[in-house]
Amino acid sequence: MQVWPANKIRVHLGVALSFAALGLIGALASAWSWPNAVVGAVVGAVLGAGWYLWMAGTYHRRRSLVSTPFPAAWRQILERRVDFYRRLPVDGEARRRFEDDVRIFLAEQNIYGAGQGARQLEIDDETRLLIASSAAILGHGMPKFEWPRLRDIVVHPRAFDEDYASEDHANITGMVHYQGPILYSERDLALGFRRHDGHNVGLHELAHVLDMADGHVDGVPIGAAWASSAPWLEVITDRLRKLRTHRYANTLRDYAGTNEAEFFAVAVETFFERPHKLRDKDPELYAMLRDYFGQDPGAS
Ligand SMILES: [Zn+2]
Repeated sequence: MQVWPANKIRVHLGVALSFAALGLIGALASAWSWPNAVVGAVVGAVLGAGWYLWMAGTYHRRRSLVSTPFPAAWRQILERRVDFYRRLPVDGEARRRFEDDVRIFLAEQNIYGAGQGARQLEIDDETRLLIASSAAILGHGMPKFEWPRLRDIVVHPRAFDEDYASEDHANITGMVHYQGPILYSERDLALGFRRHDGHNVGLHELAHVLDMADGHVDGVPIGAAWASSAPWLEVITDRLRKLRTHRYANTLRDYAGTNEAEFFAVAVETFFERPHKLRDKDPELYAMLRDYFGQDPGAS
């Protein structure tokens, strides 16, 4: 995520000043009288300021947020729970950027526990940080990528069923509604960061968000230069066929064979959780994900 994109800010400032100048020029040209000119300038200035606040306000808030020290308690949780973070060099630029991405995500996204009133699940910093870390991991090599802010993120205590009840038979650990919230099971979110078995529901659901961001649920994530190209579609079709006929064993878990969207989400989990395995078993798919995410987790 971008904290202070100077070029963008300059453009927004230029547009805002143009509004003010146009207001003044318009009033002068139409009546050539000072009261009109003042009214025109004020209207232009208000429009300009409104434009600037709307377009650049986010970046001012982000800059002020990241100018404060990162909370020590959060750093301890990341050190303890997030391998990806722990592997980033201490005091390095990459670790600082990860921390910035985490706190910007937490400041801008609406994350809360399921239920209402006294029955609402209280969620702690660790759960919030694991969700934000999932976003920071996926976006680490895409510094200009911005997560959409239209979805609430709702945390259930455990796996839930189609009625969102955590009964014994419930087996849904996460879900993204096409035009609605992202749902997580808190227990499975934590498990995803504890084990490295190719299951990480934090990454999985946000991979769906990347897929849905272009308006289609088709396994093709937003902004991928290769995504609409024939090679990628061929790879998805080929791997789905192999998964369904059990000729793609020990690479992605079987759930990837459900459809194109699940294929992408499971491939993303495997890419970050077991990169060496994916690189060895399917170098073509690995290379596509490496190029899309701008990261090479299997290189070291
Ligand atoms: Zn899924």
